[in-house]
Amino acid sequence: MPDKSTTSEETAATNTAAPEVSAPPRKIYSIVKYGDPVLEKPAKTVTQFNAELEELAEDMFATMYAAQGIGLAAPQIGKSIRLTVVDVTSGKNPEAKIVLVNPEIIHGEGEKREEEGCLSIPGFRGYVVRPQFVTIKAQDLKGESFEIRGEDLLARAFCHEIDHLNGILFLQHLGMLKRDLIKRKIKKLKKQGEW
Ligand code: ZN
Repeated sequence: MPDKSTTSEETAATNTAAPEVSAPPRKIYSIVKYGDPVLEKPAKTVTQFNAELEELAEDMFATMYAAQGIGLAAPQIGKSIRLTVVDVTSGKNPEAKIVLVNPEIIHGEGEKREEEGCLSIPGFRGYVVRPQFVTIKAQDLKGESFEIRGEDLLARAFCHEIDHLNGILFLQHLGMLKRDLIKRKIKKLKKQGEW
């Protein structure tokens, strides 16, 4: 019977998937908002590649997924170190998880103007010009150097996150009028205790 076979297949699938679910629970950090000085100062180079760094990267992925973001930089959880995580699939594809330690843009090409937002500036978006293609040089969690190329949204995410490590927010890429408008609105929200 079709019903029965579906049920047993589902059970089998659930059983096979079980070991993956046994990952340790992750810490969800609260995300620092615009106005906190940690977001506007250059972060420190990572020199210790240890289990603590690996844990932190996994917790950052969990925090980013919980906030429905596609990138998160360590200063956004109050840690001023050059570590960022990116996943433009928002957790749909585990192979899309990218950790960049001490990243730098070594090549950029083309231009694309798209709307951008930031988990530290919730509720506000603006058009930012970024390179269409970038090549990044970074280290992985073991300290091994690698290069990675990004296109379109991935290139944008890399640039946005590396900006964070340099204390730069997307607001700084906006025109003065738009930037001041957002800043004024945030000031008002702060006054109302809503920021
Ligand atoms: Zn951001």
